[in-house]
Amino acid sequence: MFGKILIANRGEIACRVIRTARKLGVRTVAVYSDADARALHVEMADEAVHIGPSPVGESYLRGDRIVAAALATGAEAIHPGYGFLSENPDFVDLVTAAGLVFIGPSAASIRAMGLKDAAKRLMETAGVPVVPGYHGAAQEIVLLASKAREIGYPVLIKARAGGGGKGMRRVDRPDDFSEALSGARREAKAAFGDDRVLVEKYVDKPRHIEVQVFGDNFGSAVHFYERDCSAQRRHQKVIEEAPAPGMTPALRKAMTDAAVTAAKAINYSGAGTIEFIVDASQGLKADRFWFMEMNTRLQVEHPVTEMVTDVDLVEWQLRVASGEKLPKTQDEITLSGHAFEARLYAEDAAKGFLPATGTLHHLKFPDAAPEGAAIRIEAGVRAGDAISPFYDPMIAKLVVHGKDRATALGALRETLARTEVAGSIVNTAFLAALAADADFAAGDVDTGLIGRHQEALTAIPAPGDETVAAAALAATDAGAPGPTADPWSALSGYAHFHTLSRRIRLRYGEENILARVSARPDGRFQVALEAPHDAVNTHDLRTMPHTARWPGHVTVFEGAVGYTFTVPDPLARADEAGAASGSLRAPMPGLVKLVRAAAGDAVIKGQPLLILEAMKMEHMIAAPHDGVIAEITTEGAQVSDGTVLVRFVEDGQV
Ligand code: ADP
Ligand code: ADP
Ligand code: MG
Repeated sequence: MFGKILIANRGEIACRVIRTARKLGVRTVAVYSDADARALHVEMADEAVHIGPSPVGESYLRGDRIVAAALATGAEAIHPGYGFLSENPDFVDLVTAAGLVFIGPSAASIRAMGLKDAAKRLMETAGVPVVPGYHGAAQEIVLLASKAREIGYPVLIKARAGGGGKGMRRVDRPDDFSEALSGARREAKAAFGDDRVLVEKYVDKPRHIEVQVFGDNFGSAVHFYERDCSAQRRHQKVIEEAPAPGMTPALRKAMTDAAVTAAKAINYSGAGTIEFIVDASQGLKADRFWFMEMNTRLQVEHPVTEMVTDVDLVEWQLRVASGEKLPKTQDEITLSGHAFEARLYAEDAAKGFLPATGTLHHLKFPDAAPEGAAIRIEAGVRAGDAISPFYDPMIAKLVVHGKDRATALGALRETLARTEVAGSIVNTAFLAALAADADFAAGDVDTGLIGRHQEALTAIPAPGDETVAAAALAATDAGAPGPTADPWSALSGYAHFHTLSRRIRLRYGEENILARVSARPDGRFQVALEAPHDAVNTHDLRTMPHTARWPGHVTVFEGAVGYTFTVPDPLARADEAGAASGSLRAPMPGLVKLVRAAAGDAVIKGQPLLILEAMKMEHMIAAPHDGVIAEITTEGAQVSDGTVLVRFVEDGQV
């Protein structure tokens, strides 16, 4: 076993690798950028090396600096995590040339699977079923469009260098092909520097089912059964589970055989995942699955496999990379129970899953599992840490295990309901709504489920009177530092001395709320709210809502929903409401990719105005209301959070 390894990553995966290394007595070296100087993974590692400024191109993607850091600290091997350099064969060559071990497959294996088109051709030769489609070299639009027609609509355009759902467009009609192709190419060029695409048949009622495989340097390969990752938005996984609901012995045998065949075809060593797309339109059939791609690394959702097979895949990675044989034979790898993983993100589900930033002023996870279940929280941040625009906005992975699917799903719901995040917009309520969705609960999942139920899954009911009252009460103490879980006790100290009564102004979305909070001599409170709300007496409440105060805001937690109220600073005179109606601001830092309207245009609510590229994804920015454009940003502009993108002509000024 290695004495010391370097982890070429950040966030939760760096923390997760460090935990296993520590268990095995292996010392760890973290690397970090400017933005991560005080990050959790830096604190957890035995040593840490600064590798550059915050942008990934100047830090986490600088293979040369990472190798230099490993050499300088005496690390023998490098674990790449996922993302970043994990599937970059040139990095593997660099690591190996420096006399270090890359904890993962060979550069040759990565190259074989790196491009989706080449990988599909290779798998075809190995006898693994692949999705029907065009994966040739020619890229002329006329040719691609005619291939699409041959394949038959709907089709899927995919970046051959793709990953993370980027550079992918579903096309339903020939008329839409050319625009979709341009979009896919733009996104692919920006994310991967390669705009070549393939065109595939869009599979009917698609389910994403993948098989975890593991190979060693002695020619052995085993599988760890399947994971179902069909709950997706924008082709990105949201909740994953193992095993796949409704899996049949025949399909499992066919899929795991194909996966092991694929791994052996490229002499695979280390952890890898073979992703398949399954046509579930007639249930799960052994001849209705096709190879999509292989991810030659540890996968984000690997913990669900660990939960149901009782293995530590990172331990296996370290053992195999250090020259050991596979720790178990196929017969010794068995399935037990059911596991889910939910990806907790800083993002606005209601606004098309727009990534968010912010400081996580308040962050709480349940520390115990519900009866009969186990939970595992994989977080890369702690309270007070920032979600910056530089990196993936994932906050944590919530992983649960139960003896069967229903038990595990119950534990997931419970875990989500007890998770509290304030300081950024998060997807907790969306995850909880999905976990409560009837089709999802029945195991009737396909990749279109979230899209079909999107409105219901992203709708947040308006806060009730008790929620507003809790916010007002917590806000009366807004000057005090730090969050409090119990606003009701915040004022009780004063109550003994005098009857306190304060007027509180709050804002929830567009609504202005006025409240009068009165502390009574008995230590209880009354919160009188302006219509349409009503007065709330604390002694009438059965449970006290949890709240968090953070600069300028109060968040009230109700199950998985966090209601965030703005507490306007009475001293600040900024007229935010006025600015909001007259202009449209960038919701996050990004690059203006495409502008579709011009000054003087009359636009209607919902009309697409421009495309903002942020975090390597394209986001359509639409008109928030009807109006006439006075001024609009230009293509190619680099904008920061809050920059005015569009200014509307004020009413009556036309
Ligand atoms: P997987 O295929 O592993 O299930 P996804 O494809 O959804 O997961 O996401 C993996 C990709 O997401 C990575 O290839 C990387 O581009 C990005 N990513 C997500 N989180 C992180 C992170 N913490 N650090 C680096 N990259 C990340
Ligand atoms: P990435 O590298 O971005 O992960 P994948 O090829 O794995 O790209 O595809 C991502 C997702 O897109 C899949 O999980 C699936 O939901 C969907 N998808 C991919 N190919 C098809 C297809 N042929 N038919 C239907 N859906 C597909
Ligand atoms: Mg994939």
